[in-house]
Amino acid sequence: MSPGAGFGVGAGMSSNILCFVLVGPPGSGKGTQARLLKQSMQIAHISTGDLLRERVALGDEVGRMVADLMDAGELVPDEVVARLVEQRIEQPGCTRGFILDGYPRTVNQAQLLARLLALRRVRTIVIHLDVDYRVVVARISGRQQCPSCERLYGVTSGAPKIPGVCDEDGTKLRVRDDDREEVVRERLRVYEEQTQPVLAFFKKSGYPCVDVPGTDRTPRELATTIEVLIRRVCEGRNDRV
Ligand code: AMP
Repeated sequence: MSPGAGFGVGAGMSSNILCFVLVGPPGSGKGTQARLLKQSMQIAHISTGDLLRERVALGDEVGRMVADLMDAGELVPDEVVARLVEQRIEQPGCTRGFILDGYPRTVNQAQLLARLLALRRVRTIVIHLDVDYRVVVARISGRQQCPSCERLYGVTSGAPKIPGVCDEDGTKLRVRDDDREEVVRERLRVYEEQTQPVLAFFKKSGYPCVDVPGTDRTPRELATTIEVLIRRVCEGRNDRV
C-alpha cells in the first residue's frame, strides 16, 4: 500500500494526519502489526509499553512506581501515560501520522485521546485484534525481547534466526518480567475489565472500527487483512473479512 493512499476517513473534519489505534489483549500481535503498518504507511509507531519501559530506565521515583505496576501486570495511572503519549505525538516523525499500540487502555484514556485527536483534527481508525485468550497465554508466556531495539520474539512463531539473539542488532534477548504466566493472566483480567469497554466507547463515539479475527493467521496474513479492512472503511464498506 502506498503511504496514506486513499485514506479519506473523517472527511469534513480531517487534517492530513492519520491515526490507527490498535486495540487487543496482550499478545494479540499489536506490536508486530504496528511495525508492519508503520512500514506500509510510513508513519510513527507509538507503543506505550515501550515508552513506559524507557521511563522506568530513568530509575527515578516515577520510574520505580511504574516498574512495580508493570511487573504486577497492573495499569499505570492514566495521567502518566497520557502525558507520555502527548509528548511523543509532538515529536518529529509524527507529522504524517502515528499508530497507537497499547493506548488507550481505559475509557478515561480514550476520552483524553479523543479530545487530543479532535483538537488536531486527526483522521482515525480503530483496529481491534480479536484473538482467543488461551492462544494469547501460550503465545506470550516466555517470549523474548531485545533490550536495545525492543523487538519482540515469539517462542512458537516469530523466533529469532539465532536463538537468544536479536536479528536486528545482535543484542542478547531477555524475557520481560511481565511476560511470566501469572502476570500474563493478570494482564488479561485487566484487559477484560478496563480495556474491552474502550472499544464500546470508540464505536459509540462514531469512530470507524474494524474487527480483525486474528487467531489462525500469520502476522503477514493479518497485516494483509488489516489493509483490506482499512480500505473498506475508507470506501465506506465496513464489513468483516
Ligand atoms: P505492553 O508492552 O503494551 O504489553 O505494556 C506493558 C505494560 O505497560 C502493561 O501491562 C501496563 O502495566 C503498562 N502499560 C502499557 N500501556 C499502558 C496504558 N495505556 N495504560 C496503562 N498502563 C499501560
